[in-house]
Order: sequence, then C-alpha cells, then structure tokens
Amino acid sequence: MEIVRSIADMQTRAEGLRREGKSIGIVPTMGFLHDGHLSLIARARKETNVVVTTLFVNPAQFGLNEDLEQYPRDPVRDEKLAAEAGTDILFMPETRDMYPEGYRTYVVTEELAGILEGKIRPTHFRGVTTVVMKLFQIVKPHTAVFGQKDAQQAAIIRQMIRDLNLDVRLIVAPIVREADGLAMSSRNIYLNPDERKSAVALWKSLRFAKDAIGRGERSIVVLRSGMEVMLQEARASSIDYIAFVHPNTFREIDEIGPPEVLIALAVRFGRTRLLDNAIVSVPAEATS
Ligand code: AMP
Repeated sequence: MEIVRSIADMQTRAEGLRREGKSIGIVPTMGFLHDGHLSLIARARKETNVVVTTLFVNPAQFGLNEDLEQYPRDPVRDEKLAAEAGTDILFMPETRDMYPEGYRTYVVTEELAGILEGKIRPTHFRGVTTVVMKLFQIVKPHTAVFGQKDAQQAAIIRQMIRDLNLDVRLIVAPIVREADGLAMSSRNIYLNPDERKSAVALWKSLRFAKDAIGRGERSIVVLRSGMEVMLQEARASSIDYIAFVHPNTFREIDEIGPPEVLIALAVRFGRTRLLDNAIVSVPAEATS
C-alpha cells in the first residue's frame, strides 16, 4: 500500500491509472478505522481494480461546539488496517491543503441537508458534500463506497451525484455491528461501560419496530412510542429523532406501506450522540 499526502500527486496517480484502463474505487473515511470501514474497503476491492481509501478528519463537517479536536485519531493503526483490508493507496491530505487560506466554495444539497441530522447539525452536510466533491476531483473514482450506517449522508451523496452529473457509481454497503447489535462507530469509544451496555437499545428498538411491522403494525405513532419507551428504559439522555422515511429519497413518510421503510434514529447516551437505522420490508398483504 502506498501513502499519498499531496493532492497534486494523487491527481497525477489517478490520471495515470485511468489512462491504463484501471477502475478506481474510493472509500472516504475520517479514520480510527473499525470493521465497518474495513467492510467498505473489502467491497471496493471486489468492485474495482484500485482501491483508494481516504483518511481526512474534515473540519467543514463539524459544527463550532462539536468534537473536531477530540475526534479519535490513530493514523499508525489505520495504515496497518487499511493495508490489510486491501487498500492500494491511502490518501491522507493535510487540512491546510484541502482548505487553504481564502477557501470559499461549498456544495449544498437543498432540502435533504436541512432535515433530521441537518436540522440538528446545520452545516454538517454542506461540509460532507463539499469534501466528497473535492475527493472525487482528486481521486477521480469510477465507484464510491459509502456505508448505510450514515443513511442520510448516503441519500445526499446520491442526490449530489445525480444533480451534478457526476460520473461516479455509488455503492451503499450494509451496517456492520458489534456482537450485541450496536452499530460500529469511531465515536463508540466515547461511551463509558454503562453507556456502552445501554447503547444496544438503539438496535433493540429497531428490531422491535421491525418485528411489529412484520406482525402487521402500521401506525407510526405506535411504533415510535414503543421505540421511545425502550430507549428511555435504557436511560438514553435524549432522543434527537426517530424518523420514518423513504429509503431512497429520505423524505419522511406519513404511512407505513410496501415495499420498504427506513427507520432512522439519533440518540444520546451521556454526551455521546449515536446514529442507527434499518431498512424494513413491509409486506403488501398484512393489515393492521
Ligand atoms: P466515518 O469515518 O465515520 O466518516 O465513516 C466513513 C464511512 O464508513 C462512511 O461511509 C460510513 O457510513 C461508513 N461506516 C461507518 N460506520 C459503519 C458501520 N458500522 N458499518 C458500515 N459502514 C460504516
């Protein structure tokens, strides 16, 4: 595995690979890699000739009072894990190169960037779409692999690719979970042992909703309040949202109906904010 830090070097490498007829896959990450990230690298490995994993803690997607400074970092371990998972090039740019003095240009996806996560973190998705657009210009990928873990982010990238005619194929890979069901996340390290135990309630509440829908429950009010009770019993410090949305558009739905619904939630345990979601099939024949 090669490590590239310079934007110009990365662009030259990408141009050369394209000229050789190689397909390039990109896996954007903020590092502190876990099995979720590694599954995306493995997927890119299967789908493309050359896998470029990017590691950049993107200041533009953190709000003023968020955890940019505390965000966990371990570049040495990341290098090892990225290589073992099948990365060909690890691109690790410097912040001063990505956002030099006088940087002024942002990519904004209207509407989608302002709901749910975007309501609570108003500049977050603007930072995400901007950095992903920049990474696409630098790495020149044919295919980009993102995780379903950040479902709204995946929907926003899909919208950006469509709206800006980007010639990039998007793959959204499934959520990788710990043995007890907690979705893997770099931020899980912030949880103390009690919070870590309680945090499994996110997954349990999604399982509850899934089972209830399977049994014919179709009321969003009933499903949401059942999930809230489970999260409160697990001593969640706050529930930011429990949303029922269309799996592709991420628009909130009024009624649960076939073929699928995406349930997304953001919950705080102590000071740590966790996200999870599940795509649930809704059988056509069931009645509530
Ligand atoms: P991050 O480093 O948190 O920005 O995440 C980088 C990529 O990994 C994003 O596309 C995430 O959706 C994805 N990802 C994070 N956690 C998981 C997980 N548990 N399973 C699958 N993909 C994940």
